[in-house]
Amino acid sequence: MELDLRPLNIPGIDAEKRPIVIAGPCSAETEEQIMNTARELAANGIKIMRAGIWKPRTKPGGFEGVGEEGLRWLKQAKDEYGLLTATEVATAAHVNAALEHNVDVLWVGARTSANPFAMQELADALKGVDIPVLVKNPVNPDLELWIGALQRINNAGVKRIAAIHRGFSSYEKRIYRNPPMWHIPIELRRRIPALPIFGDPSHTGGSRELIAPLCQQAMDLGFDGLIIESHCNPDNAWSDAKQQITPDVLDFILDKLTIRNSAVTTESLEALRKQIDDIDNQLLELLAKRMRVCREIGTYKKEHNLTVVQTARYSEILQKRGAQASLCGMSDSFIRDVFEHIHEESVAQQIEILNK
Ligand code: PEP
Ligand code: MN
Repeated sequence: MELDLRPLNIPGIDAEKRPIVIAGPCSAETEEQIMNTARELAANGIKIMRAGIWKPRTKPGGFEGVGEEGLRWLKQAKDEYGLLTATEVATAAHVNAALEHNVDVLWVGARTSANPFAMQELADALKGVDIPVLVKNPVNPDLELWIGALQRINNAGVKRIAAIHRGFSSYEKRIYRNPPMWHIPIELRRRIPALPIFGDPSHTGGSRELIAPLCQQAMDLGFDGLIIESHCNPDNAWSDAKQQITPDVLDFILDKLTIRNSAVTTESLEALRKQIDDIDNQLLELLAKRMRVCREIGTYKKEHNLTVVQTARYSEILQKRGAQASLCGMSDSFIRDVFEHIHEESVAQQIEILNK
């Protein structure tokens, strides 16, 4: 199902100019913290300030947000520095409180977008409200669930919608706090091309060093915006301290981004793409031919009562193709992977013949 979308149209924000930046602390902590951060962000040209007012915490007892009082500080930051404001909503009560305090942009967190009941409650609370709503990917890597969450908001009549890619929970934490699994937002873009996508390098990376490369990667993939955690005193932040950066560091990172044109304009690119199409067609024809021969071998094996997988032959193929690949400027492991997949399909086809 297609979404019925309108451009985000955030006042004072040029949607053509990538990235649209939303920056601010993980959480509103004190009036002073919000006002200091707001002043520094505004001085660096940031137009939309984020701050979490209600914080979903993995375990009870952590800092769970300052609640409505923080909305008053955000309103103050808005009046004093001309910033637009954004906050996370997870319940109908949050939506009502945020709207009462003139918050300009709402986002839905990853724990909430994973829950259809919560999404429906938010959608019901947003009926008849025209405000940009950004929906983070659910914590688990489920594109359909993410799209479903977006649809619920859209079905309520909200048309200014965007997605936020914040990566996906994983049991093993290696480099990323939430591994990006880029193929998921790429597929989202393919399925709903008009839907703007924001990158959230702070929650994806979980550390300061990863903010810059993740911002660049999001831009290289043609994302429209970035939502980045920035705090006037990151080391002493009450939540997500390791991933927050000062407004000045943020400015430095944004300044260094290379923004490439995402629209395809050059004719030469068209010609090259045509070549790729032709080559892919040839690859498919060759693979089909290879499968035909494999089926003939299958028939032979059946007649001579041989097993399908002849291990020595399979090892020889993997080893030889890997060595050939290196000579052609491709990695050995890549070609081995390709041939493992080809072999798997060949075996499946031969088994079918043997069992006929
Ligand atoms: C946040 O943006 O501070 C937040 C809680 O993020 P997420 O929902 O992506 O974990
Ligand atoms: Mn956070």
